[in-house]
Amino acid sequence: MAAVAAAVEREAGRLTELDAAIGDADHGANLKRGFAAVAATLAEEPPATPGAVLVTAGRELISTVGGASGPLYGTLLRRAGKALGDAGEVTRDELADALEAGVAAVGQLGGAVPGDKTMLDALTPAVAGLRESFAAAARAAEEGALATVPLRARKGRASYLGERSVGHQDPGATSSALLFAALAEVTA
Ligand code: ADP
Ligand code: MG
Ligand code: MG
Repeated sequence: MAAVAAAVEREAGRLTELDAAIGDADHGANLKRGFAAVAATLAEEPPATPGAVLVTAGRELISTVGGASGPLYGTLLRRAGKALGDAGEVTRDELADALEAGVAAVGQLGGAVPGDKTMLDALTPAVAGLRESFAAAARAAEEGALATVPLRARKGRASYLGERSVGHQDPGATSSALLFAALAEVTA
């Protein structure tokens, strides 16, 4: 989570630029605020288990991020954390199972499916890639984010643009790729 917060801080400008093209230019600021709060809360009172880390992080995102991405990322992490239960150690496969449950919860909450030009276009292939390795997950997320460029947005603010959303990379898919890149970095 510290690595994610650092990556989001570093790339906030790019995320906001992408959101300026097909949204309301706040995605970088939203996530920067959210993950800074996550990092601060976790440092203050380190949870005892990986599951508790994710649940705490998810709750913090939901309470600090006003945009659509806050409840969506919050749900992803909280649901994944709950799926991990109180295990003291977690394997990559168990993390993949947990994140799969989290991604399903994001789909339920936002009503989006892969291909709608949202964070799900990076998250879904990333979780599949995680079955192989952390590096494969990061690669799949990056490819998924790039593949949103030709898509027309069907969910979220970008969908108001209709055909004009085509030709731009989705901000949320881009931040999801950032998340998995950070995960691959710290597990390498
Ligand atoms: P807002 O659109 O409220 O300003 P952000 O800019 O922080 O929120 O986040 C926008 C991102 O959220 C989009 O790029 C997209 O990836 C994601 N998103 C928006 N709506 C949905 C949805 N219904 N399902 C999944 N992801 C969504
Ligand atoms: Mg926005
Ligand atoms: Mg907004």
